[in-house]
Amino acid sequence: MKILVVEDEPGLAEVIKRSLERELFIVELAADHATAVRKIADFEYDLVLLDIMLPGGSGLDVLRALKEAGKGGNVIIISAKDSLEDKLAGLDLGADDYLTKPFHIAELNARVRSVLRRKALDGSNTIDVANLLLDMDERTLAVDGLPVPLNRKEFDMLAYFLMNKNRLVSRTSLAEHVWGDHVDQHDDLDLVYSQIKNLRRKLKQAKAGVEIQAVYGIGYKLVES
Ligand code: CA
Repeated sequence: MKILVVEDEPGLAEVIKRSLERELFIVELAADHATAVRKIADFEYDLVLLDIMLPGGSGLDVLRALKEAGKGGNVIIISAKDSLEDKLAGLDLGADDYLTKPFHIAELNARVRSVLRRKALDGSNTIDVANLLLDMDERTLAVDGLPVPLNRKEFDMLAYFLMNKNRLVSRTSLAEHVWGDHVDQHDDLDLVYSQIKNLRRKLKQAKAGVEIQAVYGIGYKLVES
């Protein structure tokens, strides 16, 4: 997943970049209006974090250019101006969310996850990958139409993996997502390890068409097998 951070304040841009890279996103920066417009025209991004007040122009014009180019990427506006007018204009132009500066970096991460989750679900409440059907409302998994019982953590993990299909998921971000970040790190990661083992076994027994691969020292990746 590739994210473009459009932000002219170098310190903030760097903090955001580092935080998103810890979540294993590929992050690019644009510090002014012209660079942002050029990058959006030349590349595809899964998500754009967009400041409004930029050298050379308004972030709202960047958003306009993005939508006119018919690019499917999601947009979260990050603005110092808590102006209702800007907010409405941004959302009207198709932004997915709006965050007022200063914000806590954990809040930004949560919004990013939530926007990408909505994108993955695409308005439906089920995730359909290979022969798996995950129902987010009922919290059930079916493989080839047959129910596969999962405990709560296994379900949350599988949902996270399916929403991040083909993407490297760090053990830390998985732990944060499924267990919250208040648990002691070591216990936490051991727990992840044993729950993944159980989840893999259940998927294998059910002949699920996906595989959770371990990427040594980094984390995991769910792929279709
Ligand atoms: Ca700015």
